[in-house]
Amino acid sequence: MRPFSFDIDTGGACNLRCPSCAQGNVREHRLPHAFMAPELLAKIIAKAKSECLLTRVNLFVWSEPLLHPRLPELIRVVQEAGVACHLSSNLNLLPDADAIMAADPASFKVSVSGFTQQSYGFTHRGGDIERVKTHLLELVAAKQRARAKTRIYVNFHRYRHNLREELPLREWLAGIGVDFEPIWAQMLPLEKVLGVLGAGDFDFPLTEEDHRLIDHLALPLRQTLEMAQHYRHQPCPLRDRQFSIDCQGNVQLCCGGFDNRRFTVGNFLALSLAQIQRRREEHPICGLCMHHGAHVYMTFGAPEMDHLALANIPPEEAKRLGQELRGKRLRQRLDRWYRKSPLTLPPGGEAAVLNQLHRLHRLAARVRHGWPGRTGRKPS
Ligand code: SF4
Ligand code: SF4
Repeated sequence: MRPFSFDIDTGGACNLRCPSCAQGNVREHRLPHAFMAPELLAKIIAKAKSECLLTRVNLFVWSEPLLHPRLPELIRVVQEAGVACHLSSNLNLLPDADAIMAADPASFKVSVSGFTQQSYGFTHRGGDIERVKTHLLELVAAKQRARAKTRIYVNFHRYRHNLREELPLREWLAGIGVDFEPIWAQMLPLEKVLGVLGAGDFDFPLTEEDHRLIDHLALPLRQTLEMAQHYRHQPCPLRDRQFSIDCQGNVQLCCGGFDNRRFTVGNFLALSLAQIQRRREEHPICGLCMHHGAHVYMTFGAPEMDHLALANIPPEEAKRLGQELRGKRLRQRLDRWYRKSPLTLPPGGEAAVLNQLHRLHRLAARVRHGWPGRTGRKPS
């Protein structure tokens, strides 16, 4: 059976309004304010398992999962089906850390874009970094109480203005046993990315505020899109290996588009997976997106992207990150080696092996750079 990962939205709302995200930069359209029912999720998982090799379920697309009043039940539905369940949150709220950790999700990602409120509040608009820090401590304590195996990590969104805050954040996280994974911040949704190129007839025009945000991106948007065009013949992993489903069970063309009036492909339970894939492959927005190489931008699919970003940030930061990115390339080689190897692991096993490879690599980096060990420091 063909392997797919599923991104499933637990709702349609978020408590923040980040300017790089459709929840913060689209005024013209909102997603329905509804919650995914555990019963519906169970049906989706059962059907998916009968039609493909379900490698993982991410319980997030455009909404904040911690707003869902029955989130622990949703996690259990996925985990009890033998599939690894992953969460991503802004962690400005944490209604019941113990119940979430008792459900033992495979991972809990916290997206962060600063260590001070000045940086964080700009790119996580409406958020409070001190509240996030407090909630991280609560989450770690709840994990210990529940003896959960969940990997908790911070996904740091790198902009031009926040790179100096990365090291203090990293040290603080190492002291509380939370992993750190950086990523170049991107502009979303896909409609706005195509809008930069003047492509498509979407209803979300670029605003002054969008342009201000674009100026803060370390990965320069227009140049990256020009470079991505050279790789436009690459297949799209968001279409070939991933499904995106909203909280009402409707399949979206992919996780990059926000306008569900244009991106809905059909109801997952009403159509076979093969029918849905045919609709996606014939979708005119995919043709437009691939013509401009936007799918390459969305998936960091061009090898020169790191170099472009390094050339766009202060030299001292570029020097530091250049060393780290060499390590990243090694990790990517390990990932590719594993994916090509004849190893076949049960669902969830693949993620566990890759996690171990990443851990080994991070350990080597700590030794090389003399970073504090996990037990070395207490949070301030
Ligand atoms: S990036 Fe995440 S936290 Fe920010 S508005 Fe979008 S969904 Fe909410
Ligand atoms: S080609 Fe573009 S629109 Fe189609 S699934 Fe990929 S990212 Fe989405």
